[in-house]
Amino acid sequence: MRRPLIAGNWKMYKTISEALEFVQALKPLVVASTHCQIVVAPVFTAIKPVADRLEGSNIEVAAQDVADESGPGAFTGEVSARMIFDAGARLSIIGHSERRQYYCETDETVNKKIRAAFSAGLGVIFCVGERLEERDGGRAEAVVAEQIGGGLRNLTVPEASRIIIAYEPVWAIGTGRTATPETAQQMHAFIRSRVREMFGETVADSVRILYGGSVKPDNIAALMNEADIDGALVGGASLEADSFARVVNYKDNR
Ligand code: PEP
Repeated sequence: MRRPLIAGNWKMYKTISEALEFVQALKPLVVASTHCQIVVAPVFTAIKPVADRLEGSNIEVAAQDVADESGPGAFTGEVSARMIFDAGARLSIIGHSERRQYYCETDETVNKKIRAAFSAGLGVIFCVGERLEERDGGRAEAVVAEQIGGGLRNLTVPEASRIIIAYEPVWAIGTGRTATPETAQQMHAFIRSRVREMFGETVADSVRILYGGSVKPDNIAALMNEADIDGALVGGASLEADSFARVVNYKDNR
């Protein structure tokens, strides 16, 4: 049984006080939501205060990125996985398409970041997904296969068994254009088959694969109905406590 995971990626939104106001509002809305793991990913500066405020709750904190160097060392502007763990986060998003697109992250850097996160004890939400022209050109699976192969290269089986993969087609992020449940399911099954080839049956059966791309309270239930969709990485709809809680409580929307 794979436990569903619903994670909110706040991107570069919310000051510390806004983030605290959000979690204060969210806590009672999801206090009885034991069916899934719940995660929020604030900006670095809000990790510690948010983690402190959520202590003892059923909501965990993730970072949105980690340095590819473990450090400590002379890497101006970077925040190491160990520092992120120290601040109270227990996971990190790695390889988000916005980081690949605007900050030149490659499969190689993503692979280094995943290793750095694991060595500091952080869980990893590893993002993959094709751009529109790649899908239109019939290359969606090839692109995702390359991202999976590069990002997970040389991981050990115990490390691979801890990975959480988020399939986020770039054309669906922040566009209001969600992949249909069938399209998402097809790619999730493909991703699971790649994981099987790399790490074997046991890892493939247990690895959680989240869908991300314009997930909203009104489309989450249909996505979660699919066999290989184990949760969601949510951007826009995670910025308001009410709508994020409705995504978390997707079973009520059916
Ligand atoms: C994201 O940024 O990971 C994301 C899925 O955003 P949105 O839900 O806004 O498409």
